[in-house]
Amino acid sequence: MKAIRILTMTLLMLAGIFCKAQDPRDGNMRYFEPVLDGEVVYRGPDVVFRKLSEGTWMGSGHVIASETLYLIEGKTRALLIDTGAKIAGLDKIIRSITDKPVTVVLTHAHSDHSGNVGCFPQVWINPSEISVRSNAVSGYEGQVSFLSDGQKIDLGGRTIEVFFAPGHTQGSTIFLDSSRRIGFSGSSFGSGNLNLLTDFSTFLKTCDSVLSVLKKRKIRILYPGHYYGDNPDTPERIKEMRSLAKDILSGDVTGVPNTGGSFGLDTRAARNGFRINYSSRSLK
Ligand SMILES: [Zn+2]
Repeated sequence: MKAIRILTMTLLMLAGIFCKAQDPRDGNMRYFEPVLDGEVVYRGPDVVFRKLSEGTWMGSGHVIASETLYLIEGKTRALLIDTGAKIAGLDKIIRSITDKPVTVVLTHAHSDHSGNVGCFPQVWINPSEISVRSNAVSGYEGQVSFLSDGQKIDLGGRTIEVFFAPGHTQGSTIFLDSSRRIGFSGSSFGSGNLNLLTDFSTFLKTCDSVLSVLKKRKIRILYPGHYYGDNPDTPERIKEMRSLAKDILSGDVTGVPNTGGSFGLDTRAARNGFRINYSSRSLK
């Protein structure tokens, strides 16, 4: 049995299903395992697309902690949520999955979420993201359009609600699909490993407003922008992140140095498998 398991793991790694990357939780290199169930509809060197449910697909890249993009389809239009880090010919890959006209939206502008936006003639983004450094949108030559909080995107029999969720970045945005009781959270909660580039008060407010809307819309799962295993954002996980953030801000939890942290975030604190990376400027 053990030999079969080792062989299977090896084949999966060779097939690019696992992706080795630095785990920002402890800095070690390891293979991350995105969600492995779901029919594979496209497999290439840069990305694997799997069907999550009827009209919903997840694309897993392997540049930064299984960066993930989502394609969802209504009767008349499709919506691409994020454009990954580095995926050659992303537009053609998307076209092989859906024949509907595609609207492109970003959860935020960091380059692991906007890396291939140049494949598309128009992108929708939270206006607060336009000043984000380290993004692929700054050199984008297509049309940049601005999302608004509460905006409804009609895909034909499937409406997606735009929900601003500042914290990771000022313009982080979540997309909610009440009819399927799912949503898409990008890096808003960091899949349990948050890089906090705003401040704790902003993040705590976002946790409260997101928990409230999830309850109202009966949404149980937010598909995230990264995977460290099978870890979609759920109300329970957001509550854990909220509790940790509150205790860091109050001083009940003290951070430790975060050597080599992304974005220059020099402090980190962790509890129960949840982690927040921050700087002293965030402590307000
Ligand atoms: Zn980000």
